[in-house]
Amino acid sequence: MSAAVGLDVGTSGVKALAVSETGEVLARAEVGYGLSTPRPGWAEQDPDDWREATEQALEALGVRKIAGIGLSGQMHGLVALDATGEVIRPAILWNDQRTAAECREIEERVGFERLVELTGNRALTGFTAPKLLWLRNHEPESYARIDSVLLPKDYVRRWLCGEHAIDVADASGTLLFDVARRRWSDEVLDALEIPREWLPRVLESHEVSGRTSDGVPVAAGAGDQAAGALGVGAIAPGPASVVLGTSGVVFSALDAYRADPKARVHVFCHAVPGRWHAMGVMLSAAGSLQWFHDRLAPDADYAALFAEAERWEPGAEGLTFLPYLAGERTPHADPDARGAFAGLTLRHDRGALTRAVLEGVAFGLRDCLDVVREVGAAPEVGRASGGGARSELWLRIVASALELPMERLAVEEDAAYGAALLGGIAGGLWRDAEEAVSACVRPRGRVDPEPRWVGAYREQGERFRALYPALHDIP
Ligand code: ADP
Repeated sequence: MSAAVGLDVGTSGVKALAVSETGEVLARAEVGYGLSTPRPGWAEQDPDDWREATEQALEALGVRKIAGIGLSGQMHGLVALDATGEVIRPAILWNDQRTAAECREIEERVGFERLVELTGNRALTGFTAPKLLWLRNHEPESYARIDSVLLPKDYVRRWLCGEHAIDVADASGTLLFDVARRRWSDEVLDALEIPREWLPRVLESHEVSGRTSDGVPVAAGAGDQAAGALGVGAIAPGPASVVLGTSGVVFSALDAYRADPKARVHVFCHAVPGRWHAMGVMLSAAGSLQWFHDRLAPDADYAALFAEAERWEPGAEGLTFLPYLAGERTPHADPDARGAFAGLTLRHDRGALTRAVLEGVAFGLRDCLDVVREVGAAPEVGRASGGGARSELWLRIVASALELPMERLAVEEDAAYGAALLGGIAGGLWRDAEEAVSACVRPRGRVDPEPRWVGAYREQGERFRALYPALHDIP
């Protein structure tokens, strides 16, 4: 029996998964690497570390008969190669913050409205295009040597099968892509004076980009969010992917391209032909709880904190937490936003504070869901993943605040699983994404909104939404 293999070229390491035709995980391997921060706010990696780690992970996986390989990975990173194929400088990653001036430059050159209309996004420091402009402005000698540009997983593809290629989902995160038409945007490229010849060939996610020396097909793949959503079956408008990881995500497929004129959510091509997706991102979701635990209750385990929180009624007697500990993206797009506890009384204790954190994160996800709905998504159920989804209480709070049932999945894997499904389609195990999802993705257990809590959360949610603008105006 042959397996589909998924590779996720992440920020802390490469993960490789082997998946059977019925969706079971047959083998898993992870190999880590470092991240360098040569200056505050910078984040770089050596692309050869990804290649070596991938080689080791594939070897550790030990799968003899591979039907196909799918690639996924950290989005937005810039790998610049010279005419001989040499890497010119370390890759600049998605979480690097050096490009604020270049983001302003892009919005001036293209125009904010036109940029959002064409690319589905505003210029964010993490995206690829501002990194290219930064190189031009700050390292002209490196810029002058550029012959081609790749994203992280596509550098690994080049090693696997010798091809320069990218998929529509990852290309959407460059800010150089015409997301509606699923091809590079000549208009943006011209406005930014970036040569079209530098960019790789664009494919749909399931298409074969090339073959390894052993003849194994390598699917184009997808950026980690789109691949993760495919892995939980969020490929059509019904089920949304709700991620309660360090950051939080509400992700829903769209049948047609529609950008948010205020660019509060990202709109990208999905890893499925003819579909797009809208995605709201919270910067501190389960990360807020981790902050609370590490800084204020380091001796308590998470189970104890959840038990204390459960003793409080929903709304914790009017205590509200704003989860903007690292600024926010959706819906406020404000890197300077701050967190807050508001409404404290003498009665509140650690359990109340914990409950307020869990609820504040749920209200942040509700804000994401509301904006995702505004661009036309209509999710009927949330598929939960991420560390926070391990808590039944937190899922019940999220289901009640979102007024959406939440499902967990039989296989709890992330982007590498979606990548494996794409690899399997390229290798002929499944006909398309629909068939792969129905063969492999199985919900297990459902947490419904608690009728008693929904009313309390509507009231508390109003207080939550009033707080950010109120605090924002305090000098
Ligand atoms: P990342 O997005 O960094 O991969 P994870 O998805 O692994 O993170 O989630 C980690 C988060 O899970 C921690 O920040 C913490 O808030 C939360 N967490 C840890 N233990 C539990 C638990 N027992 N129940 C619910 N949430 C937990």
